[in-house]
Amino acid sequence: MTAICIKCGAKKSFPYNKCGECAFDPQLAREDLVKSVCLSSGRYGSQFEKEKYDDELNSYSAQLRSGLSVEYDQEEIERLDMQLTEVEELDDKPIFKYLLRVFLPGILLLLFLIGVLVVLKWR
Ligand SMILES: [Zn+2]
Repeated sequence: MTAICIKCGAKKSFPYNKCGECAFDPQLAREDLVKSVCLSSGRYGSQFEKEKYDDELNSYSAQLRSGLSVEYDQEEIERLDMQLTEVEELDDKPIFKYLLRVFLPGILLLLFLIGVLVVLKWR
């Protein structure tokens, strides 16, 4: 994967990596992370699109290196932001469902027993 630093334009392996040249860390802010993914071939699924985007990345890199800023496609930023949210949700949902499945029968049984005790006591 090819990615570039959104601050200085230096090449790096992955969008979430800290920049080796200017030490900019995109993981400190969500917005920076989304922009970093936007400036990486990782935003495309197919190899063909990735290779096509490489040329564009090179020109973005040159732009940043000469001190110019990059114009981000706002729709693409929003799409990538949603994608990031989906990935984050995928991360903890299975664990939550698993815990619920494991503990729910026990909790229901406990509630049932408490109910029986309350009914017996107040009879
Ligand atoms: Zn940098």
